[in-house]
Amino acid sequence: MSIETRTSIVWDYAPAPESADHIRLKDRYGLFVDGEFRDPSGGRYVSTINPATEEPIAEVADGGPDDVTAAVESARAAYPKWAALKELERAKYLFRIARLIQERSRELAVVETLDGGKPLRESRDVDIPLAAAHFFHYAGWADKLHYGVNAREVEPLGVVGQIVPWNFPLLMAAWKLAPALACGNVAILKPAETTPLTALLLAEICQEAELPPGVVTILPGDGSTGAALVRAPGIDKVAFTGSTAVGRDIQAALAGTTTRLTLELGGKSANIVFEDAALDQAVEGIVNGIFFNQGHVCCAGSRLLIQESVRDDVIAKLWQRMGCLRLGDPMDKNTDVGAINSAEQLERIETLVAAGEDEGATRRTISCDIPERGYWFAPTLFTDVSPAHRIAVEEIFGPVVSVLTFRTQAEAIEKANNSRYGLAAGIWTDKGSKAFEVASALKAGVVWQNTYNHFDPTAAFGGYKESGFGREGGPAGLRPYLNIVR
Ligand code: NDP
Repeated sequence: MSIETRTSIVWDYAPAPESADHIRLKDRYGLFVDGEFRDPSGGRYVSTINPATEEPIAEVADGGPDDVTAAVESARAAYPKWAALKELERAKYLFRIARLIQERSRELAVVETLDGGKPLRESRDVDIPLAAAHFFHYAGWADKLHYGVNAREVEPLGVVGQIVPWNFPLLMAAWKLAPALACGNVAILKPAETTPLTALLLAEICQEAELPPGVVTILPGDGSTGAALVRAPGIDKVAFTGSTAVGRDIQAALAGTTTRLTLELGGKSANIVFEDAALDQAVEGIVNGIFFNQGHVCCAGSRLLIQESVRDDVIAKLWQRMGCLRLGDPMDKNTDVGAINSAEQLERIETLVAAGEDEGATRRTISCDIPERGYWFAPTLFTDVSPAHRIAVEEIFGPVVSVLTFRTQAEAIEKANNSRYGLAAGIWTDKGSKAFEVASALKAGVVWQNTYNHFDPTAAFGGYKESGFGREGGPAGLRPYLNIVR
């Protein structure tokens, strides 16, 4: 007798596009200085484009040196009153901003996706809720600063200059602004050139929240605007998130000055899979670790370390899972992998992937339909990688994972730490004692166990070595914005 078994059913998805009809974008955005939008002194505006279609979305002011000076003047004027405000009153403003982010969350998610190329599901479920959560969290800290710093007496630093990258535009703005304001500082934030829009909507939210003018300044522009801001007289502290190269340049510029500095830079984080791990769960974590936000994540699990005994099994499962990822229109709620943020970033990814092939690693890229316009890179897996290959050493910042193997726990730790970076790591094991031992031996600011890319406003985030210094999030995130008086 033969039994017929139905082995596979291939389901396709009906398109589920989010609408952009409800968003209210202006054709042109100025600089947000002194509580209002104004033209840049040089009169220059630059188009921000949708990387999934290459179409312009809006024109955005390009802040020049005179604008930086005006921004610092306005911030300095606003500082004494803001710093002297009752802590509970400061908290109310932060709370209001958080509530307004929630109210406008659908609009913010759509704009984040249009401007940056990330899947709407991620901006809707991760970026925007976490941005609101950061403001809520630090609203709670504003009148408890004393408890956040071991009962020491503290004071704010003054005017802080903050520079954020393009991978999580609103979320990084929230990571920077919320603790700075809660501590009584005023802030000048420069968003990235390719993704300024949600920061400018946040400026509108600051107006709606009736935040006093000059407490938050949003200064769009390019790298030169950032460089001028860092060096401007009247800046008491700089907080930067971005590439290690620019971080190094900022550190050199501020050496010998009294300006405080925190840097959150790149990474080449190890995601370590032990043979006793729940492998299917680990594969989900690997996928989330490297393909979330197209791999444009500073803590992406881009170095996958697999114990040799389960290597073939994990790679087979991973490859099969990668084949299910849907690349395409970021506005479609079925999309897993959206557009690469810019033509420059796509070129960087392609250069490093070509280097991987030239150096002898084996490349596998999923086959899928690539849209005709826009910037795209299909999820890619490299095996036969040696620790010296560029793809095992350099930050690719794209949907590309490099697989290395190990035999023993000691070898896993050694290989994981064999990096000039030290931002994050993942450990997949069923044994709690092993996870604790390995986590304690890893030189990484964040170590996840049996999960990856899990962000929480109450937890500290930051790096070792070339991944930077200083922590953001939780009570540790207050310290870089405070002076200890006694
Ligand atoms: P950058 O470090 O150049 O950009 C980050 C931010 O710094 C942006 O707002 C940028 O402005 C600004 N900036 C650029 N030059 C200067 C300067 N000299 N002084 C002050 N601010 C400056 O990153 P890229 O966008 O060029 O990306 C390059 C690589 O960096 C990526 O491939 C990735 O590897 C890494 N990266 C890491 C990030 C992380 O979170 N760790 C985030 C982003 C990138 P503008 O955008 O206008 O140039």
